[in-house]
Amino acid sequence: MSKDYYHILGISKSASQDEVKAAFRRLAHQHHPDKTGGDDKKFKEANEAYQVLGDPDKRAKYDQFGSAAFDGSAGFGGGQGFGGFDFSGFQNAGGFEDLGDLFGDMFGGRGGGRAGQTRGSDIQVDADLTFYESVFGVDKDIEVTKNAACERCAGTGGEPGAGMKTCDACKGSGVQVTVQRTVLGAIQSKRTCSACQGTGEIPNKICTTCHGEGVERKRERLSVGIPAGVDDGAVLRVAGKGEAVRGGRTGDLFVRLHVKPDRRFERDGIHIHSSATIGFTQAALGDTIEIETVDGKGDLKIPAGTQSGSQFRLRGKGVPSNRGRGDQIVTVEVRTPERLSREQKKLLEQLDLRS
Ligand SMILES: [Zn+2]
Ligand SMILES: [Zn+2]
Repeated sequence: MSKDYYHILGISKSASQDEVKAAFRRLAHQHHPDKTGGDDKKFKEANEAYQVLGDPDKRAKYDQFGSAAFDGSAGFGGGQGFGGFDFSGFQNAGGFEDLGDLFGDMFGGRGGGRAGQTRGSDIQVDADLTFYESVFGVDKDIEVTKNAACERCAGTGGEPGAGMKTCDACKGSGVQVTVQRTVLGAIQSKRTCSACQGTGEIPNKICTTCHGEGVERKRERLSVGIPAGVDDGAVLRVAGKGEAVRGGRTGDLFVRLHVKPDRRFERDGIHIHSSATIGFTQAALGDTIEIETVDGKGDLKIPAGTQSGSQFRLRGKGVPSNRGRGDQIVTVEVRTPERLSREQKKLLEQLDLRS
């Protein structure tokens, strides 16, 4: 269902970009959920409309296709995720967090809003794959240095057995409320309590290993299952394997895959291209030749009268996908001998194949 973003922002289709921004600021101020009398639903709606109309490119697309062009399902990130993985490529359409620059001055930076759980940072690493591994999948050992939950205190920051007490800074609510005076009036903002990271509790005695941080710098080795059929440049998300943070949710690990080129094979979607060279006698009379496939050596039948550049398709020798395996396409090149013995030359002259 298409939403009328112009109507939501209360502007006309011919409004200038400045008018779009002004309308959004007015509505955001009116409905911001941290404000007394705020309206979360209206605020989100206004934000959604602004994410599109505030960007001239997206606005043009919207004018043409309507809001359906911006549904998550419309394939913004180009996800191909089979095997339960998420090839998100990092870009999420119209994220709520893009608000940063507009709200930075108004609400004192990111992370405002309800006393949400803090979240550790994401980590990005690169992994090299051979062509073969990219076709069939592989379990890849990956090493990352990151903040992991402290083993001694299991991430609580407290000395084991010493117990926890209510946080003084937030009186156990996990939220700190500040009132800011801005040109738009007094705005009350809530943020996660920095003393307890929103948990409402602090340890009686801090952990001797992590000094209360709840995390320690660690080199961690993990095995990441790379699914079959991944492309060069694909990004794999491994949920919960990023940076840990005390009292919060661990970030994600993103693994960017680099497929090393293979001199024998070239990928074309789910198909694989390769080439083979034959002599002109084989081309003229036909033969069976041995070729390399990703499954090992195989036979290819060359029919009599094969021309240089002919292509042969080996069904099911390509890349596995959720539509089954692709094919291997072999381009055959006919080699003309450069040096002939006296006898060969004589025989060829007798043939006199000039046509
Ligand atoms: Zn607190
Ligand atoms: Zn600890």
